[in-house]
Amino acid sequence: MKLLINEYDLKKFKRRASRAYPREVYGIMLGKRLANRTYKIARIIIPPVVEATYDYVIPDYETIDKIVASSGLKYIGSIHSHPQAPPTISDHDYQHWDGDKVVGILSVRKRNSYKVSELKFWRRNAALPVRFKTFKPGENGKNRS
Ligand SMILES: [Zn+2]
Repeated sequence: MKLLINEYDLKKFKRRASRAYPREVYGIMLGKRLANRTYKIARIIIPPVVEATYDYVIPDYETIDKIVASSGLKYIGSIHSHPQAPPTISDHDYQHWDGDKVVGILSVRKRNSYKVSELKFWRRNAALPVRFKTFKPGENGKNRS
């Protein structure tokens, strides 16, 4: 499995996660399946949350269902930040894992005056992280009229 991620939306998510630090930020990843077990993440959307702490976020699942239904895209997985923690699956993440969905984790750490981040994507029962690349939206087919 491989992910191709909208660079613009990923940057936006990273900015949000950095600003929200030390609270956690949660987003959903919408896209479609391409050939060769590649999934294109066209959008990363940050839904309203019911509760956000240092350890977890409880998103508004009802609103997520509506966003997914009206997007015309597939719900590929979710992404959330780990403030001051590694980009690995926590016990809470494991317990709330939604079936075959991909889970992205952005570690955000503060070093003196700036923040550094590290991003990894995971699949259930896979030892290694999912490989990913970014793409610039509008890059494909820009010479077509
Ligand atoms: Zn987590």
